[in-house]
Amino acid sequence: MSPDYTDVSLTAAERVRALGKMGCSVEINEDIAPRRYFRSGVEMERMAAVYLEEGSLENAYVLYTKFITLFVEKLPGHRDYQQCSIPEKQLIMKKLQEVAFPRKDELKKRLQEKYSREHSEYLRSQTHPTQTAFLSSVDLHTHCSYQLMLQEAIAIVCAPKHNDTGVFRLTGPGMSEVSGCRLKGFHPHSKEPPLFTVCKHVQVRDSKISLLDLR
Ligand SMILES: [Zn+2]
Repeated sequence: MSPDYTDVSLTAAERVRALGKMGCSVEINEDIAPRRYFRSGVEMERMAAVYLEEGSLENAYVLYTKFITLFVEKLPGHRDYQQCSIPEKQLIMKKLQEVAFPRKDELKKRLQEKYSREHSEYLRSQTHPTQTAFLSSVDLHTHCSYQLMLQEAIAIVCAPKHNDTGVFRLTGPGMSEVSGCRLKGFHPHSKEPPLFTVCKHVQVRDSKISLLDLR
């Protein structure tokens, strides 16, 4: 299967190349007179400009590429190309030089930037898988007060959406940072050293727990 330009796991260059390939897939039919191609070319260029204006970068890029492929590579090979002389031919030549080539380059640059951003976000999400059960900053504060009163207190976090349950307690550094923190609501704490840890001493035996969410 050929690479899909919407696949964020691909590099920016690979995605732009996949789009370019779509733009190069233009076939001409010798039985259709070149003047018909020139006339539809005028529409093609207009459509590409609309896409660009709407911010539809991919469509604009593919269409400008098709426009260039058609009038630079494919149509000159048509058997009746040289005899064809219509005003639209001049217009197309002008549009190629003044509009299609510069815009294609500009779009390529913008797509590269857009895809590079998306690719780095993708890589980040790969290296930092979202923890499904963890202690948020609010949980840290809530549990800190329990653990201050009762050293062996544990926090059980259920993430039913991810079918995950974690049992945690604050570490020494966690207790001193959180007990000294005066911030409220969700706010950042330091990441190193870890402020909480999984309670490895907790064993879950076969037991049925019914949980009622009273919020
Ligand atoms: Zn805090």
